[in-house]
Formats: sequence, structure tokens, C-alpha cells
Amino acid sequence: MTYIVTRLCRDCIDTACVAVCPVSCFYTYEGDDKATFPNQLYIHPEECVDCNACEPACPWEAIFPEDEVPDVFADDIDLNYKMADHEDDFEVQEEVDHEQPDPAEVVANKAKWGFE
Ligand code: SF4
Ligand code: SF4
Repeated sequence: MTYIVTRLCRDCIDTACVAVCPVSCFYTYEGDDKATFPNQLYIHPEECVDCNACEPACPWEAIFPEDEVPDVFADDIDLNYKMADHEDDFEVQEEVDHEQPDPAEVVANKAKWGFE
């Protein structure tokens, strides 16, 4: 199994997950095909050790164990796996400072992506 970053991360990227991941398996896309790999982080499915540290750390509640990804985000499972086939276009994400969202922003972001 692996953990999956869903589209709830898109354009948020506060890297709280990066800070807690023991194996540095959060990646950012550096290639030209932003239509396929949008602006979010990706978990390398072959490097994740299923430690669960990132899920509670994500302020946007964007991370799920693979077998618990909500149906509305099912496509994001394939997207995270697909990054492993394009490793040369990805770099390990470094931790950056970022403001924490407030609860209303988290709810609004979920609604934006059809997850109530
Ligand atoms: S903590 Fe969550 S929203 Fe922030 S970069 Fe990581 S996966 Fe994305
Ligand atoms: S479950 Fe653990 S190893 Fe996997 S991405 Fe999250 S923090 Fe990293």
C-alpha cells in the first residue's frame, strides 16, 4: 500500500507533510506537462513506508491511505502512481514556511473539489 496526496493539496503546498515524513518521499513536479501533473505534492508509491505520520499533519486534510481515498478523489490514486513512471521530472520537496489555513478555508477547499 501507499499513502495518496489528493487534489485537496493543489496550490496549497504548505509542506507540513514533508516535515514529518521519515523517508522524504514527497515530490514536486518540475516538468512541462502541468496539465497531467498539476501543482500539488506527490507521494512516491515505492518509497512510502506507510508510517501514517503525514496524514494527521496535513492541515488541508489532503492525504489518505490508498484504501481510504474517497471516491471523488479516485483519479488521484492513479496520478500518484504515475509519478513513479516519470521520476526524472520530479524532485524531492523541501520544507518551506507557510501559513496554516483556518477551519473555514479547509471546508471551502473541500467543497471546491466536491468533497463535502
Ligand atoms: S501538508 Fe497536505 S496540503 Fe500541505 S503540501 Fe503536504 S499534502 Fe499538500
Ligand atoms: S505515510 Fe509516512 S512514509 Fe508514507 S508519505 Fe506519509 S509520512 Fe511519508
